[in-house]
Amino acid sequence: MSLKITKECINCGACELECPNKAIYEGGKNWSLSDGTSIKNLFIYNKGKKIYKDKKYKYLSKKKYYIVKEKCTECIGFFKYPQCASVCPVDCCIKDKKNKESIKELLLKQKLLHPNT
Ligand code: SF4
Ligand code: SF4
Repeated sequence: MSLKITKECINCGACELECPNKAIYEGGKNWSLSDGTSIKNLFIYNKGKKIYKDKKYKYLSKKKYYIVKEKCTECIGFFKYPQCASVCPVDCCIKDKKNKESIKELLLKQKLLHPNT
């Protein structure tokens, strides 16, 4: 499952620097699949909805850092443990139980985002 950032976030920015998928964004900044990845597919499906590689999608939080579930792999494929949770000084990067994914699904996502790894 992907991780999420809770309202306890103090906006220090430490997690953003550590994410291998560029799945973490500062509040108020828009996101895209291609930021920090080498995805080749022009789009992916998420619950039947097309998400385009280069399209900029509206931020998910205006004031706090946030995680894009379509990009978070729990760091699988890069690190043993979620890097955001490891560096967060207030322990507010937690598993998002609403987005359950198997290890296999997370690995597939990682390969989709980084086909050359
Ligand atoms: S768990 Fe890893 S991939 Fe997911 S947001 Fe945190 S640092 Fe990024
Ligand atoms: S490391 Fe924690 S407190 Fe700092 S921006 Fe990320 S989620 Fe917020």
